[in-house]
Order: sequence, then structure tokens, then C-alpha cells
Amino acid sequence: MSGGKLLVFSAPSGSGKTTIVRHLLQQEDLNLEFSVSATSRAPRGDEKHGENYYFISLKDFKQHIKQGDFLEWEEVYRDNFYGTLKKEVERIWANGKNVIFDIDVVGGLRIKKKYPDRTLAVFVKPPSVDELKRRLKKRKTESEERINMRIAKASVELATAPQFDVIIENIDLQVALQKSHDLVSEFIQDKLQLDEEE
Ligand code: 5GP
Repeated sequence: MSGGKLLVFSAPSGSGKTTIVRHLLQQEDLNLEFSVSATSRAPRGDEKHGENYYFISLKDFKQHIKQGDFLEWEEVYRDNFYGTLKKEVERIWANGKNVIFDIDVVGGLRIKKKYPDRTLAVFVKPPSVDELKRRLKKRKTESEERINMRIAKASVELATAPQFDVIIENIDLQVALQKSHDLVSEFIQDKLQLDEEE
């Protein structure tokens, strides 16, 4: 593969990473395009196929795994598979753009490992688990059971934060948006110094 940079934004759901990613996509100077993931979960609210996700059946998802079509994939929740198709990244690079990902921590770190130099892996940290709970409840798109499932996963995900290149604490959204913009801007201009700890 040849092409641009990879910007990975990972976090527990409810941290505000989707809001940050959407904001960055509107900044023309960053020349970003969203990597639309494939998922076997059903659409939520007004989500659209090809825009938020490629919504495919579990059977098709498993077929793609077999064919080696994914750059990374993960069973994020039981029977809910998510993955980045290699073709999606190639398509965006062919458009001359940098790729931005809104994916889970395991997938995010996998991409960083595959492309260490051209990936900026950002962990978006919520202020607290209680605040996360409050935000997920406010969203009103999911059952209590699913919300609890996400909260349980969040604690495990929070522990992976130190493995990322940068941690952005989303306490004040405006500050987090500005910080994310500055980081991505520096990274795509090769001006960001990352610690090379292994
Ligand atoms: P949601 O169901 O809220 O849209 O997403 C659940 C989790 O799956 C989120 O953390 C989201 O970032 C993650 N996710 C979305 N797409 C991908 C992907 O392509 N790969 C991986 N590993 N995780 C993904």
C-alpha cells in the first residue's frame, strides 16, 4: 500500500470521539476522509449504509474474514463484528486523502502496529466512568442492557490508553476539538515528535 497518513481515534463509546472525528472531517486543511467500517450490527437511529458503516450480514462478514479482505477486524461485542476493509483505505489513499478512523482500541492499536510511522493513534478519554454512563443514557438509542455492556467494556478499554501515541481528555469539548485539530495538523505535516518508547 502507498498513500497518505492514518489517523486513528479510539475510545470507549460515549467518550465523544465520534463528535471529534466529525469535526476534524470538516476541516479542509487536514484533507481527511472517513474510513467507513463494515459491521454486522443493525443500523441505529438514522445511520446510513455506506456513510456510517457498510451494514452487512454476519455471514458476509465471516466470508470477508476468510478471504483476507480486512486490514483489521474485531468482534467488539458478542456477534457484533466490526472491521476495516483494505479496499476502503486504498480507495481513500487513491483520492489523495489522509484516512481517519473511529474504531475500537484493539483495532486502533492493530493499525498502529501495521503502519507505525504513518499512523497517529489517539485515545480519547472520558472524564469518568460515571460521566460515560450519563452520556450513553442521554443518547437514548440503546437498551439498558446494551448500555451496561458498553460500560463494562469501557473499564478494560481505559487501561489501554498508555499504549496510544497521545491521550486527549474530553472534559471540555471545545478544548478537545482544538487539541485534536492541532495534533492532526502537526502530524500530517511531519512536525509532531512522538516518543519512541517500546
Ligand atoms: P458502535 O456500535 O457504537 O457504532 O461502535 C462500537 C465500537 O466499535 C466503537 O468503539 C467503534 O469505534 C468500534 N468500531 C467501529 N468500526 C470499527 C472497525 O472497523 N474496527 C474495529 N476494531 N472497531 C470498530
